[in-house]
Amino acid sequence: TGGAVEAVAGLSWTAPAKTVSGDPVADLREAILTKLAYAIGKTPSTARERDWFAATALALRDRIVDACMDGKSTSVPNKRVYYLSLEFLIGRLLSDAMNNLGLVDTTRRALRDLGIDLGDVEAAEPDAALGNGGLGRLAACFMESMASLSIPAIGYGIRYDHGLFKQSLEDGWQKEAPETWLSEGNPWEFVRPEATYTIGFGGHVTMSAISDGVIRRHWHPAETVSAVAHDVPVVGWRGKHVNTLRLWKAEAESPIELASFNGGDHVGAVAARSKVEAISRVLYPSDSSEAGQELRLRQEYFFTSASLQDLVSRHVAERGDLRSLPDHAAIQLNDTHPAIAVPELMRILLEDHGFTWEDAWHVTTNTLSYTNHTLLPEALETWPVGLMERLLPRHMQIIYLINWMHLEEQGRHGRADAAQLASVSLIEEAHGKRVRMGHLAFLGARRVNGVSALHTDLMRSTVFKDLHALDTDKIVNKTNGITFRRWFHNCNPELTKLAVEVVGERVLDDPEALLGLADHAEDSVFQARYAAMRKSRKEALAKVVAENTGIVIDPSALFDTQIKRIHEYKRQLLNVIETVALYQAIKAEPHRDWTPRVKIFGGKAAPSYVQAKLIIKLACDVAKLVNDDPDVAGRLKVVFLPNYRVSLAEAIIPASDLSEQISTAGMEASGTGNMKLALNGALTIGTLDGANIEIRDHVGADNIFIFGLDAAGVQARVAEPDYQAKAIAASPRLSAALDFIAAGGFSPDEPGRFQPIVDDLRHNDRYLLTVDFDDYWRVQREIDAAWIDKAKWWRKAILNTARMAWFSSDRSMREYAQDIWRVKVG
Ligand code: PLP
Repeated sequence: TGGAVEAVAGLSWTAPAKTVSGDPVADLREAILTKLAYAIGKTPSTARERDWFAATALALRDRIVDACMDGKSTSVPNKRVYYLSLEFLIGRLLSDAMNNLGLVDTTRRALRDLGIDLGDVEAAEPDAALGNGGLGRLAACFMESMASLSIPAIGYGIRYDHGLFKQSLEDGWQKEAPETWLSEGNPWEFVRPEATYTIGFGGHVTMSAISDGVIRRHWHPAETVSAVAHDVPVVGWRGKHVNTLRLWKAEAESPIELASFNGGDHVGAVAARSKVEAISRVLYPSDSSEAGQELRLRQEYFFTSASLQDLVSRHVAERGDLRSLPDHAAIQLNDTHPAIAVPELMRILLEDHGFTWEDAWHVTTNTLSYTNHTLLPEALETWPVGLMERLLPRHMQIIYLINWMHLEEQGRHGRADAAQLASVSLIEEAHGKRVRMGHLAFLGARRVNGVSALHTDLMRSTVFKDLHALDTDKIVNKTNGITFRRWFHNCNPELTKLAVEVVGERVLDDPEALLGLADHAEDSVFQARYAAMRKSRKEALAKVVAENTGIVIDPSALFDTQIKRIHEYKRQLLNVIETVALYQAIKAEPHRDWTPRVKIFGGKAAPSYVQAKLIIKLACDVAKLVNDDPDVAGRLKVVFLPNYRVSLAEAIIPASDLSEQISTAGMEASGTGNMKLALNGALTIGTLDGANIEIRDHVGADNIFIFGLDAAGVQARVAEPDYQAKAIAASPRLSAALDFIAAGGFSPDEPGRFQPIVDDLRHNDRYLLTVDFDDYWRVQREIDAAWIDKAKWWRKAILNTARMAWFSSDRSMREYAQDIWRVKVG
């Protein structure tokens, strides 16, 4: 039944099978049983769900290997993309692999024959949470899209022993526990000890004259650590192409110090090992940079150096001469975390391959490109010069030389203005000397991209203004995208199936075909089917909510969702305060026909981010009072779902009616959660920020709810004195909500608990919550009214799904391939 669409809950397609027995289900069943016995050492009667998961994953991994060996994935491509990212927020891989191989139904049936439910097996897979949020999830979507487009690519990152912490809520306070995804091994990966590289730290640099006055410098590191490759295959859509995600694990070069051991110090003999291996132990749990943390800099250099050594040796093996590196390799730096690649590639070319400075600079600046993800000053990565000199002395020399040449060139072009030179310098001098990693990546890159149209404009006009003036072609825009395989096919098989029925199976390959749904947006029969899909997803989410929080929610209410990292600029607090105001309004007029709403929050705060954790506590305290108050029963419920992660996102997104994208305009570079929710038919309430603007352009202004100041308005308003006091004074509703919070209305046990939040809003509202509040309230009430007219609501929702095709990460990857990497697609 090759190519047929399943009639059951799973969607999609079934690959034409190459079978041994003539029956693909029987083949897979046998393969799973064999893995269970010989790889896991279990019988069906002793196997736990985790064992069935591992056996199924191993059986499917064999199919991926077959696909790889069959296809062009193993031949030497003309050009490869190397995607360097400190984070890959992957989530679970089983449904991805099954879907892309066309084996969803086959696997379900094979397991069913064994008395096992596929859903239980899928749930036994731990999320690979090797990232914090949008940046890491983007890297995972891009890897999947590159495989699906047959772009030869290797992703490089770190194989953290512990991914992003597990969040629990104890009496509303966030508690963190270590994440242990590898505790029972990782069936997807191949260990490649033959791909091990030595990474140095510290030490000193010597000079030697070689000829004609040419001086060579050599770095003699004081410490070394091995980087050992662990490969996860990434199979693309319809199994046509397989790429590799290569994650580095830090290992001590010597497992124990024999001298200490023999001397009787058995603990001391392994202590050094543990220190060295700490490099890949844990993901930094902050979604903005961790300034000054030495271990973080070690992580960045560790994975960047290993990746560059790996790709350089591959290039030398395949092509011989490194001068042709730019023709055959495009290296993308995902944010500044791998920006040390600029001096590291220079060092490798200069020291290991005898390049002249000019030739090395030519190769470097024609191979590297850099994606910027934030312009928030506190998140722009800088490193103290002293730390760099101690940890990476040779790199610091190279950085100084790059900077010297760069500033000299400014002088030659008559740009000697001190302020301008200070603004383009790689070294920031304001708060002690620090290296600006964004500037370093900018100078070393062939192209520098922003991640939405607005963000790219702001790059040109703010942080990179003076650098941009030196080379106006360098900054380009590449608006982010999401992989539709995971965020449509896999997470919403019912909607996908509906789309296939209405517009045909080609929608699975070409999301532009979704546009055909627009013709049915007003068709009541189609609307009813679309609504039935949403209802079933909401019922499923209501179960998850009840299991995780004990809160009972009504699937017929409007599900109003804000899921993302907890950050002041993302303004969860605006949503919470609007909830407070709504609560007060319902209490004041209990007999009005209020639109029933469930406010759903999810997201983690960085463990050291005190204010964000207090916002979580406020949301939970508001939830407690509101959910227990019979006066608002049936109209308002508030839920904070703990431990937001990829697999939870997959359950929440198809069940959401409203998507909260309410960051202060100019502060969210793009957002990708906004795209996932809109694709699945949630209407957006949002500011004109990041990709929200482009979402509005695509879905149509009538099908999105925009409020608040735009980026220019924000810039103008913050310059006005006392803007927050004026805004609060002008809004009785906001004043009342703040007064109630400040008086301990939600914290009678500790009336002053939320004083820091209220004080901030009254005196230092950096995120302009107070300024945008009234307009936000107004638009929320428009949404209440819109929800009543269901035919209009579903029309808008369907038009969102129909018009979101452009936000596929396949589109993003095609644009990168053409404009940045100059690599052929397919
Ligand atoms: N965390 C997870 C698990 C996600 O899937 C996403 C993106 O969709 C994000 C964080 C980033 O969300 P946002 O773009 O709303 O900040």
